[in-house]
Amino acid sequence: MIHDLHIHSSASDGSLDPVRLVEHVREHGVDVMSITDHDTVDAYRQLEGKLSIRPVLVPGVELSTTWMGRGIHIVGLNIDIDNQVLQRGIAAQAESRNQRARLIADRLARTGIAHPLTAVRALAGDSAIGRPHFARHLVDIGAARNLRAAFRKYLGAGKPGDVHTLWADMPEVISWIKAGGGIAVLAHPAKYGMTGVKLRALLQDFSDAGGSGIEVVCGRQDDATTRRIAALARDFELAASSGSDFHSPEQHWTRPGGFPPLPDGLEPVWNRW
Ligand code: AMP
Ligand code: MN
Ligand code: MN
Ligand code: MN
Repeated sequence: MIHDLHIHSSASDGSLDPVRLVEHVREHGVDVMSITDHDTVDAYRQLEGKLSIRPVLVPGVELSTTWMGRGIHIVGLNIDIDNQVLQRGIAAQAESRNQRARLIADRLARTGIAHPLTAVRALAGDSAIGRPHFARHLVDIGAARNLRAAFRKYLGAGKPGDVHTLWADMPEVISWIKAGGGIAVLAHPAKYGMTGVKLRALLQDFSDAGGSGIEVVCGRQDDATTRRIAALARDFELAASSGSDFHSPEQHWTRPGGFPPLPDGLEPVWNRW
C-alpha cells in the first residue's frame, strides 16, 4: 500500500485543483493520500460531495510555525477539519499569511523592484498566498531567471522575503492539531539544513509539545538521509510518515507516491488512525 501523506493543491501553492489532484494521484497508483496545503483546508471544502473511493483521502494540513527563529512545518494528519479550535488556529494563520505578504512586498520594494503586492495577490487568486506566488511574479518581471533563482536571491532563508516571525509557535500549532483529533508530524526534517544537534533539540521540543510523528520518507531524498531520519524516529519513539510534497506535474523530480517504502522497524503513522 502506497501512502502519500504530503501533497499540495491549488488551495495553497500546488498547481492542480483538488478534484484533478485526486485523479492525478490515483493515476500514480497511490492507495492512501492526504492533501496537506499550507495553512488551509479549503481543498476539502472544494471536494465536499465528490469523495473518491480510491485513493482513500485522509484529511490533513501543513501548518507553518517558528522554532528558535527558523521556519518549521508541521503536518497535521487525520484531523477533523470542522473542529472549532483547529478552525480558529487556521483562521489566525490565514491572517498571518496576509500580513506576511504585505511585509514581504514592502521588503522586496525596498530592494528596488516595483511594489509587487497587487500583482502577487492577483496571481494567487483564491489560493493561500505564499512565497511561490512571489517567486512567479519575480520571474514574470524579469527580476529572477527561474523560481529557484527567485528563492536564492529574494525569498530563501536570510533573504528579504524570508519572513517567518508571524506564525504561531510550535506548541500552539501542535495543540490545534491535537484538538482536532489529529497526529502532529514534523515535515521534511532534512530540508531545514540543521546540524544533528539542532535537529535533536527540535525533536525534543516537538515531542515535549505533543508531536508524535516524523516524515521519514520525504520525496526525493537519498538513502543515507532516510536512514538518519529513521534512527531519529526510533530514538524519539515517533511514528513514521511518508509523502512526496508534490506540488505540480511540471516539477518532474517529484510525483505522487514517488518514494521508497518506509524502512523496517518503524511504526507507520497510519497505524495510529
Ligand atoms: P511559504 O509557505 O509561503 O513560506 O512558501 C514555502 C513554499 O515555497 C514551500 O512549500 C515550497 O513549495 C516553496 N519553496 C521553498 N523553497 C523553494 C525553492 N528554493 N525553490 C522553489 N520553491 C521553494
Ligand atoms: Mn509549498
Ligand atoms: Mn513544507
Ligand atoms: Mn509541503
